[in-house]
Amino acid sequence: MSSISALRALLIPGQSVVITTHFNPDSDAIGSSLAWQKYLIKKGLHVDVVIPSALSRNLTWMPGADAVLDFENILHKSTIEAKIHVADWIFCLDFSGMQRLHGLANWVKSARCKKVVIDHHLDPEDFADYYYHRTIAASTCELIFDLISEWGDEALIDEEMGECMYSGIMTDTGSFRHPNTTAHVHEVVAELIKKGVNTNAVHRKVFDSASLHRLRFLGHVLANRLEYLPDYHLALMWITEEDQKQFNSQAGDTEGMVNYGLQLEGAVWSICMIQRPDGVKLSFRSIEPFAVNTFASTYFEGGGHKNASGGRFSAGGIEQAKEKLKEVLPLYLSEIKRVKNL
Ligand code: 5GP
Ligand code: MN
Repeated sequence: MSSISALRALLIPGQSVVITTHFNPDSDAIGSSLAWQKYLIKKGLHVDVVIPSALSRNLTWMPGADAVLDFENILHKSTIEAKIHVADWIFCLDFSGMQRLHGLANWVKSARCKKVVIDHHLDPEDFADYYYHRTIAASTCELIFDLISEWGDEALIDEEMGECMYSGIMTDTGSFRHPNTTAHVHEVVAELIKKGVNTNAVHRKVFDSASLHRLRFLGHVLANRLEYLPDYHLALMWITEEDQKQFNSQAGDTEGMVNYGLQLEGAVWSICMIQRPDGVKLSFRSIEPFAVNTFASTYFEGGGHKNASGGRFSAGGIEQAKEKLKEVLPLYLSEIKRVKNL
């Protein structure tokens, strides 16, 4: 593994770069990828962004989003294969575990070029040649800003790159309310505003762009798919395949629903189970100081941040996942009570 400062001199005009990010890419994943793409293009490199699954509707406004290549889109597959084949560099942004690339993982793994990870998730895997990895960072977009600044290129950050970066910083900090919102986060945002970013407009584009279907879907989930387990201070939500069909659910429509559980008075954590074609996807959220990443990794093949994690259950559907959850919950009773009494 080499130092990231050595990388700067190795990025040479004319080289080909593929930037990729995690499955179900969120605003931080797409925002950091597009901002980094624009930066490298300004440095004279040829750069494509490849994502393992479709872009959600509320992110399509981002400058450069229309040219993103989607591994799930049959029309993009051969282009993606060719781009990865000729790439001099692959940048892995906002993830550091290969399984988060899903079907794209094998192509990235077998690519012979150098790989670079820029990420803020815990426990990075050892698969890349260069790492710019800081778990203290609230978002990968913040890291992109920091790296460009460390390399003395802050002047190259323009309003469009700033909009992309602001989106990821805003969403990964829960609009500046999560405990990861440091003074540095606000310092970076101040610089982005000076670059011309209209923060109110970005907020509206990301959060106030729901379809009527999506709002009705949310209403259905809150009314019929939310249970509160007071002994465990746990809000549990679940979304079936039929629910998704009934409300014509699109990529990104379930994003953030898990957070509603934490609005319940007394809730220490919230879990949302979503039936996907390949198993049940779980989202975990908690309030300080309860850590959900250890729960996710111990019982649901996942992990993530202390207060925002994900996982999966592949041994059955939603009902079986709920059974498993209810089996293991008693093991956590004393820990939850301890947190509650702090
Ligand atoms: P979400 O609930 O938004 O899908 O995920 C929340 C956070 O949990 C993500 O930002 C990511 O850090 C982490 N995460 C989600 N799914 C997984 C997973 O399968 N494995 C690991 N290690 N982390 C995950
Ligand atoms: Mn992130």
